[in-house]
Amino acid sequence: MEQNCCYHITKDILVNGTPGPATTARSSDDLYDMSCDAQSHDAASPNVCFRFLKEVVALLVKEVLKDGTDVNKKVVEFRHPDELMRILDLELISEPTSNSELLQLCQQIVKYSVKTGHPHFFNQLYGGLDEHGLAGAWMTEALNTSQYTFEVAPVFTLMEKVVLDKMQQLIGFPEGDAIFCPGGSIANMYAINLARFHCFPEVKRKGMNGLPRMCILTSEKGHYSLTKGAALLGLGEDNVVKVTTDAAGRMRADALDSELTRLKSQGLVPVMVNATSGTTVMGSYDPLQPIATICERHGVWLHVDAAWGGSVLLSDKLRYKVKGIERADSVTWNPHKMMGAPLQCSAFFTRHKNLMTESHSTNAVYLFQQDKFYDVSYDTGDKSFQCGRKVDVLKLWLMWKAKGTNCFASEIESAFDCAQYLANKMKVTEGFRLLLEEPECTNVCFWFIPPSLRNQPETKEWWTKLGQDDGGRNDACGLPARRRPCQLLPDGGVQHQLYDREHGLRGAGDRPPWAGLVASLSGAGLVASLSGAGLVASLFGAGLVASLSGGS
Ligand SMILES: *Cc1c(COP(=O)(O)O)cnc(C)c1O
Repeated sequence: MEQNCCYHITKDILVNGTPGPATTARSSDDLYDMSCDAQSHDAASPNVCFRFLKEVVALLVKEVLKDGTDVNKKVVEFRHPDELMRILDLELISEPTSNSELLQLCQQIVKYSVKTGHPHFFNQLYGGLDEHGLAGAWMTEALNTSQYTFEVAPVFTLMEKVVLDKMQQLIGFPEGDAIFCPGGSIANMYAINLARFHCFPEVKRKGMNGLPRMCILTSEKGHYSLTKGAALLGLGEDNVVKVTTDAAGRMRADALDSELTRLKSQGLVPVMVNATSGTTVMGSYDPLQPIATICERHGVWLHVDAAWGGSVLLSDKLRYKVKGIERADSVTWNPHKMMGAPLQCSAFFTRHKNLMTESHSTNAVYLFQQDKFYDVSYDTGDKSFQCGRKVDVLKLWLMWKAKGTNCFASEIESAFDCAQYLANKMKVTEGFRLLLEEPECTNVCFWFIPPSLRNQPETKEWWTKLGQDDGGRNDACGLPARRRPCQLLPDGGVQHQLYDREHGLRGAGDRPPWAGLVASLSGAGLVASLSGAGLVASLFGAGLVASLSGGS
């Protein structure tokens, strides 16, 4: 069997740009295959063929793009960790591994991975597999550069500017600054750091020493990354104040007002209010207009976490949900959520033009020389938390270019229509109870009440039963409980990951009573949450066609 060998830099490479005749790479590495492309092969291009790479691409096309999106195939070959550890040869050893063995390992990697583009992969974030998004992701990897300076990312620097300007325009900031960053959690941390710097610029040099006790405010339903950010940035979890919400999960503006007054009277300095546009579980949109007015009155930075729900900005029909967002100081918006861009694609915006640079720059001389031969204002690296920064823009730009803004908008509108359709079906189907009568976003949260619990007084015990695991017995859904990975939600619901065939949901013998919910998803994800007998599900994404035929 052929072996891969170490590729040493030799004098031949340094002088001629190509390995000399005797290098180990040439003699045995089958990446270096002269047979498959004789014409383009010459001595100046040592890796003309890339047979291994071609085989990996062929594998991905067949097993991920074709079979991985075939409704008749599995979403995942689930194995428990110890079992999977035995199956996969993950160990790193001293000797090289041949390409044919590596290819087998790649096949296993694909086989045991979750096919997130599968129409029956029901989870938040995912809305199928976008061809242009994937092409952008592949191009990004092949070009493998860093976004920090114009000289190493000339095209992507301009592209990032164009895309961020477009998004900023949709938000409605007349000017400002923005950056793609690794996820909404990091974007929210940018917000906290900038808000604090805005209040106390000395914090950059001196830290928190000698400064008054600061706090940030968010709603009870706000994302946990605000709490993480407060911990990480030295504000402390205890200084995250949770504002109460109304029945629809939206921040109560009156409660925000009185909290701000209370905190100030106690000597605390509120540095930021976080309003959420599209809460993660219920999809609620906080009322931005009254919140902005209150923030202006109290002189507090307003951040809008629109990671999930911000994409309504693309739609003239839906953007009323974020009315007032243009009054914010900063915004988080994740195209890797409702716009369906491949992970990661998340952007942070602020209306304050120079603040990111003032707050984050350290002027590293080895990267950001001011006397370069081009306009160094195009170097975006120094305003970032990061040093090297991945190119996240290409996949989104390619999708946007391919669809046009109008098509993006209509996809999002159709996802909202589908959520409404599902909610309407549930209203007229026995056993289903919606958490919100009208969905705020594309999340549809509901309980499934099994026949044995219907028409009974809803005591504390009843709710416990509804939310209870059944200790391993098959429950009303016909599913062995211990096979259902569950996660308790703050509302008492349980979030459950659905794995199509793995749990037999499509099998004839053990159809759950809600199998009447025939969901055919195109560009959509569904988060269903099973809790013993109860069921809480949230619907995300586009194109859900659901028909409900009722409980058992
Ligand atoms: C998902 C989400 C985040 C976090 O975004 P990541 O990209 O997963 O870090 C923040 N806020 C809200 C409201 C979210 O839904």
